[in-house]
Amino acid sequence: MTDSPSRPEYARAKRSLGQNFLVDTNMARRIVASAGPFDGADAPAVLEIGPGHGALTGLLLEAGAERVMVLEKDRELARALKARLPRVGVIMGDGLTFGWEGLSGLPGLRLIGNLPYNVASPMLWEIVSRARGWSRAVFMVQYEVGRRIVARPGCGEYGALSVWLQAFSTPRLLFKVPPHVFRPQPKIDSAVLEFVPRPPEEWPASPKSLANILSLCFQKRRKQLKSILKKYFDDALASDFEARGISPQARPEELATHQFVWLGERIFSHFLLDLVEKI
Ligand code: SAM
Repeated sequence: MTDSPSRPEYARAKRSLGQNFLVDTNMARRIVASAGPFDGADAPAVLEIGPGHGALTGLLLEAGAERVMVLEKDRELARALKARLPRVGVIMGDGLTFGWEGLSGLPGLRLIGNLPYNVASPMLWEIVSRARGWSRAVFMVQYEVGRRIVARPGCGEYGALSVWLQAFSTPRLLFKVPPHVFRPQPKIDSAVLEFVPRPPEEWPASPKSLANILSLCFQKRRKQLKSILKKYFDDALASDFEARGISPQARPEELATHQFVWLGERIFSHFLLDLVEKI
């Protein structure tokens, strides 16, 4: 089933906002069903990111979601959606700079979105590490980005994005989506992913240290850890590596998420303490 794919608003899609609208209602239903159920006694609030013309939003209401909010950067689309679906709480804003921490008052919140592909990775980076209290998220991204998100150590697609998102959540690739269900049609396949947050006590104590070590290591992913970290590599660090079974000759893509969390804290908390001592 297709939602008249030649409607003029699809032709006016803004590339700068990554607008590829879903026009296949069966596919939209499948995505909404993967994020549900939304009805029943414990009906969760739902926040959709980038609702566009409302392909998913309308189906969320149909599926029984009582409290639906959307976050949309395109003013024109946000206004049109508010006029068409007055029950929906429309926030005009940017997912990259949104105050994700502020969602903690909505326990059990579900997140959903066909994310703008040009900024999907940095947006997920922010959402998954900063939003609190959400119970599950279902997002569509480029297929190749989806593969990187779920990649495991030792595989070529494993990188900073995989480690970061897996430190805060458990992502799972649910299914692949072909280009013909969108207008305009992208040249590439897409993927729908589910994210379940890790319990807060398992979150990295210092996200900043983790971000620093990931940036340092994955800029030089072909090099060995000993060479990447030569500035910090003294006898104490060598024996900490040995105690944790990490080889100094290993390359970044061989380290597991928890090893990066440890290494970030080991190097950067230490470094910060040094700075504090010098002041
Ligand atoms: N959900 C709709 C659908 O499936 O047909 C539209 C999806 S389209 C791929 C991405 C949507 O995100 C667009 O509506 C676009 O305007 C919006 N968007 C782009 N950048 C954004 C940002 N930084 N913050 C919030 N929304 C954004």
